[in-house]
Amino acid sequence: MISDSQLVSQHWPAYSNVTIVRGDLLHPVVSGNKLFKLIPLLDKARREDKSVLLSVGGRYSNHLHALAWAGHESGLQTVGLVRGYEAQPLTPTLLDCQKWGMHIHFISHDEYENRYSDDFWAFWLGRYEHSLRIDEGGWSAEAIQGSAQWWRGIDPKTTLVVCAIGSGSTFAGLVLSKPKQVTVIGVPVYRDPDNYQSLVRKLTDVGVAMADIHLWAEGAGRGFGKLNMQQQAFKYEFEKQNDCELDPVYTTKVFHTLAQKLGSDNTLQKHHIAVIHTGGLQGNR
Ligand SMILES: *Cc1c(COP(=O)(O)O)cnc(C)c1O
Repeated sequence: MISDSQLVSQHWPAYSNVTIVRGDLLHPVVSGNKLFKLIPLLDKARREDKSVLLSVGGRYSNHLHALAWAGHESGLQTVGLVRGYEAQPLTPTLLDCQKWGMHIHFISHDEYENRYSDDFWAFWLGRYEHSLRIDEGGWSAEAIQGSAQWWRGIDPKTTLVVCAIGSGSTFAGLVLSKPKQVTVIGVPVYRDPDNYQSLVRKLTDVGVAMADIHLWAEGAGRGFGKLNMQQQAFKYEFEKQNDCELDPVYTTKVFHTLAQKLGSDNTLQKHHIAVIHTGGLQGNR
């Protein structure tokens, strides 16, 4: 699928010590980061004789989009539990999902709030025989393991890696497979009134050491999927100068936060920095 596709990187001309890992170029249709996560989950489905992949997400979800495509490619039925209402027009994301054969069920806000509970899953797994539960964003040991693939595109001289945090799989995967001398910094893209305590718990539960959890939480800005004015202006300028598009949910926040830090923290100058473009451009439509 993409297991042997090339992961290219390029300089960020504004900063001589930063390279951009172009995950957005990994695949012409779906978000590269999501495929890294899904490949080991597809293997698991095959191993466990599951014929249905069941997952959950929003109406613009890169994860459901990649899942629908991957299911279509590998002959597995996919089912998407989507936060929203039947009466709303389908987004371009969901139209693609449908085209690739995904069954879409809309679930209410309240049901969606339940998406981590076993009751929620027992109900839906019961409706589809031989189905595999895939948590939101693909969060799983398999997705974490698949995310180690990013190192293929990271220069060995690198001492600092910066990536987005949605479910945290990408961050956990990078940290758990990193060379000793590298620091990985995560930029959460959603606001958390609890100061990311549940994220930290989730990460330590899968084996990430407390000492390896570095977050630039100010990157969350106005919250999930929302850009403030500085972030919007940054996106516009960046795209004009670098022939590289950013998405508003993840990569704009990551790149903007890094640029801010480079402007305010001199200790970053001594680092060789790799910033990960996790893709996600389908959501721009
Ligand atoms: C899902 C996604 C992320 C977040 O990755 P996680 O592994 O869920 O933390 C980052 N960028 C893009 C474009 C994504 O689609």
